[in-house]
Amino acid sequence: MSLKIEHLVKTYGQNRAVDDISFEIGSGEVVGFLGPNGAGKSTTMKIITGCIAADSGSVLINGADISQGMKDLKHLIGYLPENNPLYLGMYVREYLEYSARMYMAASATKQAVDYSIDAVGLGEHQFKKVGELSKGYRQRTGIARAMVHNPEILILDEPTTGLDPNQIVEIRNLIKTLGRDKTVILSTHIMQEAEAVCNRAIIIRKGRIVADDSLQALKEQNSRNVVTVEFDREVSISSLKNIAGVLDVQGQGREYQIVSENDADVRRAVFEMAVRENAPILQMYKNKGSLENIFHDLTFGN
Ligand code: ADP
Repeated sequence: MSLKIEHLVKTYGQNRAVDDISFEIGSGEVVGFLGPNGAGKSTTMKIITGCIAADSGSVLINGADISQGMKDLKHLIGYLPENNPLYLGMYVREYLEYSARMYMAASATKQAVDYSIDAVGLGEHQFKKVGELSKGYRQRTGIARAMVHNPEILILDEPTTGLDPNQIVEIRNLIKTLGRDKTVILSTHIMQEAEAVCNRAIIIRKGRIVADDSLQALKEQNSRNVVTVEFDREVSISSLKNIAGVLDVQGQGREYQIVSENDADVRRAVFEMAVRENAPILQMYKNKGSLENIFHDLTFGN
């Protein structure tokens, strides 16, 4: 499976909601589509799923352009829209059968519904009305509906919004499990979510991609080169600031955060300073780049 997005543009009035977005996703990736509210995540997802048309650009699934005929490609994509619209008065199983009928003959729906109920863990609740379910199980129903036709690509728009912390963990685990067999794209503005489930992040801001890489690489590239050091007594901040490559030092008592130029590793010099000043080091480590910082740096402000 391959999904290729080329130069997508979508404008609402004067507002360029999606402004020249391109990326490619292969099989077996769980990709986080990250960005602040209004960045253009939902609009891009709606274009990929054929719900709305782009002004220009193309969406290619296995090389075929969706604008040439979504009909032949829709079985490859499953979509959970934002706010998970459901028919609350229908029974879970009935609702999934109804959804499956949009993709397949009546004779095939039983097996398809069994598969999706099983995949999302809805077995116990399949004969309840959707409106009687907790929010977490409604979300599972939405995901079951998105995958009832066993698509290769699952597109989930803010799948954990409005859930309580336990439900969030359950849905994240479910997405991780689904990601073993399917390509998953999920949008979120919550960094821990991306960290918990994705192996790649595409960060967008004002309709444009500002980063596209593995989470690991993003953290490494953007680690702010901060070293934390704890001495067994107070030392003078100015001796730390005098070390070559150090930009800033913060801290009090015996623990300090040393911010250095990006290519500088100041740990040896800190050690030598500690020896000179007879201030034994109790611990010293390079801080890992936090995804929250990266997100903030890339998407904050104008
Ligand atoms: P996100 O999903 O990242 O929160 P959206 O894709 O929903 O962002 O929105 C991107 C921009 O497009 C926002 O400025 C939003 O107000 C605007 N927008 C989205 N949908 C519509 C619409 N149907 N009509 C007009 N403007 C819209």
